[in-house]
Parts: sequence; structure tokens; C-alpha cells
Amino acid sequence: MTAASSVEPAASADAVVHEAFAALKTGWEEAGGLTYAQRMDALERILDATRRWEGRIADAIDADFGGRSRHETAMAEVFVVVSYVKYVQKHLKRWMKPSRRHVDMLFKPAANEVLYQPLGVVGVIAPWNYPFQLAMVPLASAIAAGNRVLLKPSEITAQTAVVLTDMMNELFSSRVVGVVNGGPDVGAAFSRLPFDHLFFTGSTGVGRHIMRAAAEHLTPVTLELGGKSPTIVHRDYPIEKAAERVAVGKCLNAGQTCIAPDYVLCPRDQVDAFVTAFGEAVRKAYPTLADNPDYTAVVNDAHYRRVAGYVDEARDAEVQVVEINPAAEALPPERKKLAPTLLLDPPDALRVMQDEIFGPVLPVVPYDHLDDAIRYVNARPRPLALYYFDRDRDRVKRVLRDTISGGVSVNETMLHIVQDDLPFGGVGPSGMGTYHGREGFETFSHRRAVFHQARLNTIGLLLPPYGARIDRLLDFMIGRKKS
Ligand code: NAD
Repeated sequence: MTAASSVEPAASADAVVHEAFAALKTGWEEAGGLTYAQRMDALERILDATRRWEGRIADAIDADFGGRSRHETAMAEVFVVVSYVKYVQKHLKRWMKPSRRHVDMLFKPAANEVLYQPLGVVGVIAPWNYPFQLAMVPLASAIAAGNRVLLKPSEITAQTAVVLTDMMNELFSSRVVGVVNGGPDVGAAFSRLPFDHLFFTGSTGVGRHIMRAAAEHLTPVTLELGGKSPTIVHRDYPIEKAAERVAVGKCLNAGQTCIAPDYVLCPRDQVDAFVTAFGEAVRKAYPTLADNPDYTAVVNDAHYRRVAGYVDEARDAEVQVVEINPAAEALPPERKKLAPTLLLDPPDALRVMQDEIFGPVLPVVPYDHLDDAIRYVNARPRPLALYYFDRDRDRVKRVLRDTISGGVSVNETMLHIVQDDLPFGGVGPSGMGTYHGREGFETFSHRRAVFHQARLNTIGLLLPPYGARIDRLLDFMIGRKKS
């Protein structure tokens, strides 16, 4: 089997991943990293194929989800890849230039520089929720940095995995890009390979396995994980506007977005207004749900049951549940469309307040003072994203200073992720390392420090035998005070 030739789960996960990895290793040993021209050519081919294959990509994701809005696919998968690849093409030459660094007076006239070198063969493991974009953006970043890449798409979006495999087969030899397919067994075998870097996007739980496996070879990891991303709405911000932006962020991909607003901290006396405005925003965007191609389904039965289970548990706990089903349609479980649902002030013990929700369910947590909202966020694991709605600059600064999250959108949800020049990543349990922007290039590069000694230099002054001369020099270097 060649590296990118099959989407069939193989008899032995280890055999499949080793064969694909070996092809890339051979490519590296024979030709090393990709040149600037090869990188630009590869990026151009990715760009071209993404545009040419847009229909196939949208069909595959639609089939995988049993209903994925084609517009969401165009915006959040195809456009994101196109925009990022174009951005990289524009800046790559500059990023690849060695950066000159300061030389201390003591070592002048030597020169210092940092070289950006490809790492070698890197692994990319992708999740199912944006199955094209979250495979292609890391892959394009790794190629931009000159690496050879082995990709493992998610088995949950199997049709998209076929498209990714076929596309990579068409574009690259198995010595430049390989694809292996399969579930957790293949993922586990994959993460045990001696990669030069391993880039994982997925859940925090699996992220722990990845890091453990990578530790065996001391393979550096980038972990793009999940978590519960809070939204805080300040009482001075127009609640209708905030509710509308939260509704847009929550309903995109039916809430199956790593940076979807997970829960809202809402001023206590504005909860009713928030609920009304959220409902109106949903009704305006989605007058119907069941057959509405704009409203995406939950990806599979297991995830449907998990998210629906949060609502059932809340009902059992007598939490006020507000289901927004604009046309009051029947939503049979087999269609996997879940109505956007608000849970008002659910107790902390419920699973919906512990797990990352990853579906169209939104707890609304009332607060009294901004300090309380900040304390609430800080008492929980550091999230991937934080959203704050307020027009007062000082308070915005304060919230930015007093909380920690991977990224932030102020007076908006989600849009920080599509800013090509901003790094994207989590912090603590929501992830480590970043990509997008120049940071994506650096993540997949080795920053190699090089000191160039000058022909005429002063190093002799520092060599033994030590005596009064070096003591005088050390007095100066250390700034010793004469007693
Ligand atoms: P997941 O962790 O279940 O799976 C991710 C990938 O890991 C899949 O390809 C899967 O086959 C593989 N895998 C599963 N078990 C493995 C193992 N033991 N060893 C190695 N690989 C294994 O995640 P998911 O359900 O596909 O995606 C949803 C999660 O991903 C959510 O938590 C979400 O927040 C997170 N996510 C994060 C980002 C981000 O950029 N930070 C983006 C999208 C999704």
C-alpha cells in the first residue's frame, strides 16, 4: 500500500502508519526539506484543488453530517483554506529570511542570525467538526515551513476523509504528503511514530494520550484542544445585539465548533431580555429547522444523544429549558437536528456545566457584578476562547488583563479565528502552541541560532591564564561595585 492510497482500515494499524511514514522519511533522507519554489508550488496546487474540488468537499461533508449547510462549508472550510494559503504565499519569502539578531558589545564584530529550518516529517491529526479546514490549514502551514506531512483525518467524517485522501494523492507523491485513515487504533499507532513534530486537533482527553505517546520519542507537540468558552455580556452593552452575535456563533455548524460560545454570563436582570433576543435572532436566521439546508445536523447518533442528554438532564433537574423551534416542527432523532436550546441558570453539577457542549445548547448563567463573572471564569479550566461584550475601553482592558484564554473576540463571537495574521491556539487544558499567521510557519520550523565569529575578535581577552586584566574586564562586565 502506498502512503495515500487507501481509506480502508488496515489489518494492522501499526503496519499502515509505518509504511506511510517510511515513504516520507525516505523523501526527507533523499531530498531534505522543500525549497521555496517547491513550497510555493505545493501551496498553489492546494489552492487550485480546493477551488476545483469545492463541490466534492461540500457534498462529502454534507453526507458525513447528514445535513451540513453548503454555505457554512464554503465560508468555514473552503474560504478559510483559500484565504490562509493566499496569505502564506504572500508572506512566505519574508518569513523564510534569516532574522539578524543583536550582538553584545563584548562579542562584536561577530554576527548573529536565526535560520528557519524545516523540521522533517510532521504528523497532523484532524477532528471531524470542520474536517477539511482543520486538516488543510495545518498541512499547508507545515508545507510552507518545508516539511513532509503525514495526515490522519477523522474517521467520523469518512466521506471527507476519502476526498482528502484522493486530493492529496492527486497533488503529492507519497514522499511529500501521505494520508492514513482509521479510528482511535490508527490514531494511537500514528501518535507513536517518531515524528519531528506532531500537530493534533481534537478533544482534551485524547490530547493527553497524544502527549503521552509523543513523550516516548520526545516529539514536540502542538495540541489544539477544546473546552468551555465563556461569553460575558456587560449590562451597558445592548443585550439584543449581544444575543444576536451569540446566536450566530452558537448556531454555526449547530454549535459543533471548538470556539463556539459554550455558556453566557448575563446580568441577572437582563436574562429575560437575552432569552427573547436570542430567540428572535434564531427565528430570523432559521425560520424552520427540520428541512432547512442552512441549519446543520449533529454529526452522528452518539453526539446527538450526548447533547440531547444534556437537555433531558436539565429538565429532570427542573431547570428552565427554552427550546427555539421557530416553526414548531417535529425534529425526529434520526434526522439529528437539535433545536437551539437555552438552559437558564443550570446548577454546576449537571453534565452540561462540566463537559464541553459542542452542540446547539446554551446555558445562561446570571451574574450580579462583573467581578463575579470574572471569578466564575477564573474558577474553571482556562478556555480556548472568551467573548466579552462591552464598549467601555477600560473595562475591556480589565477583562483582558484579569482572565486567560487562548483567544478573544470583543463585541463579537468567533471571528478572531479567521484573522489570518493572529495566532490561534489554546492555553493550559485548551491546548498548547499556536498556528495561523507567522506563528503557523514558526510552529513547523526549527529556529536555529547561528553565531558567526569575526576574523578579528576579542575572545582572547576571556581565555586563561586569568589575571588582573580579566578581573578588570569582569568588573566591567558584571558591574561590580568597588568597596
Ligand atoms: P477526538 O479527540 O475524539 O478525535 C480527534 C482525532 O484524534 C481523530 O482523528 C481521532 O481519530 C483521533 N483519535 C482518537 N483517539 C485517539 C487516540 N487514542 N490516539 C490518537 N488519536 C486518536 O476529537 P473530535 O471529537 O474529532 O473533535 C472534537 C474536539 O476537538 C472538541 O473537543 C473540540 O473542541 C476540539 N477541537 C479543537 C479545535 C481547535 O482548533 N482547538 C478545533 C476543532 C475541534
